[in-house]
Amino acid sequence: MAYTKRTDGRKFDELREMEAKVGIIKSADGSAMFRVGKTIAIAAVRGPRDLYPKFKQDSQKGVLRCNYDLMSFSVTERKRPGPSRRSQEISLVTEKALLPVLELDNFPNAVVDVFITIVQADAGTRCAGINAASLALADAGIPMKDLVCAVATGIINEDKVIVDVNKEEEDLEGGLADTPMAILPRSGEVTLLQMDGEASKEEILESIKLGKRACEQIYRVQRDALKERYGGMKDAAD
Ligand code: UDP
Repeated sequence: MAYTKRTDGRKFDELREMEAKVGIIKSADGSAMFRVGKTIAIAAVRGPRDLYPKFKQDSQKGVLRCNYDLMSFSVTERKRPGPSRRSQEISLVTEKALLPVLELDNFPNAVVDVFITIVQADAGTRCAGINAASLALADAGIPMKDLVCAVATGIINEDKVIVDVNKEEEDLEGGLADTPMAILPRSGEVTLLQMDGEASKEEILESIKLGKRACEQIYRVQRDALKERYGGMKDAAD
């Protein structure tokens, strides 16, 4: 069946309503919340601090460790608590999406831990997690070249790209090529690009084009959250 109108009434290239807040967890070195629609991610940063056991240390630069966890109460269907193959995969791609912006050379033998907790899930949780983590790292004062913005697009009706897919859309009959991506807003560099489904080269290029545009809006929300906490900043990444 042709998908001519989105289930929640959004335009095809429209994001869900977003909200971000920095410095929400006092016991962490940095923290943030990022919400898009009903998906809510919380990120907390610990570090830089000495990495143990010592054989895991890098004498040239600090190490980034990310841990993504989807709470069992975040979804309506039953989800077993604790780590899974899925959470390990998302932790790994999150690390790879964030690492290019971090300047860890000043922290030899140290580790920066990022804990991402999904407290409510309606698809797009890895992207919301990356958006929250990027803010939490900035809040922790880790030197960064840029923020990282992430969104998932989907290809539907064979050629139509939709931006910021929700769970209802992800589950549509006939399937959808789900394409989460992370983009550095200033350089346009893509640090995460995954795809679940089938798409042509043109469809993938169109997805990246619309994803980049969506990331400009996400960047504004992130910058506003940092400005709200730190006041007259010239640039979130400074
Ligand atoms: N989900 C779920 N139970 C699980 C894992 C995922 O209900 O154990 C839902 C949740 O809403 C999640 C969505 O499925 O956001 C899509 O999951 P996916 O693995 O595609 O990653 P995401 O889109 O969240 O990055």
